[in-house]
Amino acid sequence: MPELPEVETVKRGLQPVWEGRRFTRVTCYRPDLRKPFPLGMAQTLTGRMVERLERRAKYLLVRLSGNLVLIIHLGMSGRMTIAEHDNGAVGTHDHVVFVTDAGVRVTFTDPRRFGLMDICDGDGLDSHPLLAGLGPEPVGDGFNASVLAQALAGRAAPIKAALLDQKTVAGLGNIYVCESLFRAGIHPERAAGSLSKVSIGKLTQAIQTVLAEAIEAGGSTLRDHQRPDGELGYFQHSFAVYDKEGKRCPHSRCKGTVIRMVQSGRSTFFCPTCQK
Ligand SMILES: [Zn+2]
Repeated sequence: MPELPEVETVKRGLQPVWEGRRFTRVTCYRPDLRKPFPLGMAQTLTGRMVERLERRAKYLLVRLSGNLVLIIHLGMSGRMTIAEHDNGAVGTHDHVVFVTDAGVRVTFTDPRRFGLMDICDGDGLDSHPLLAGLGPEPVGDGFNASVLAQALAGRAAPIKAALLDQKTVAGLGNIYVCESLFRAGIHPERAAGSLSKVSIGKLTQAIQTVLAEAIEAGGSTLRDHQRPDGELGYFQHSFAVYDKEGKRCPHSRCKGTVIRMVQSGRSTFFCPTCQK
């Protein structure tokens, strides 16, 4: 599933082909994904200039001429593929095609169709239902240890659940929460409100570093290994604990084993020796 670093990578990959370009053709090959597309979406987008691409949490925001914003969520399996030319071929799971005035085609493919697209007025973006309740960006200026401490204060929920709550911090998913808690040495079941100031400091640092490294890995993928099929956003990760059940803890001085448990229906991977 695409997490924040993948969405950031997709954004950076699309920037050179979309920013400053006009959509000359937009075609939707079905009326909906997770939700129906806005009525007349293709017509609304056709002819508009892409002014800027941004990311908020796991949403791609395409700022368009006429003060409109196209909001894109990749869902569980959404991806964007860039082709230098529009050869007209459309696969079973290709749902939206964007062609620019440079002739470059971007295809949105989503086999599971949990993705989403919506269009909103630029002035109403912050109050859009998808974005209104989001907490600060973990890699932005608005996030630091005191902001996190404030968000966790008095909460009895496990820290894992508190971090997945998008009001605490925006865009963190299961993978990076597991990795951040491991790096900070915090047990995923600890009550969020019970963390010391020192632990919260370590956790803040861990979240920022883990995400920055993943974004950097995505960036290197774009630079060094541009896939021949032009597909954006998925790259080889190296995780410390995520999906490493039964493997030895990566800390050299630890003899523990990574274990998996289920919290609120989702897998948590951690080292019970290192994480207290
Ligand atoms: Zn360990």
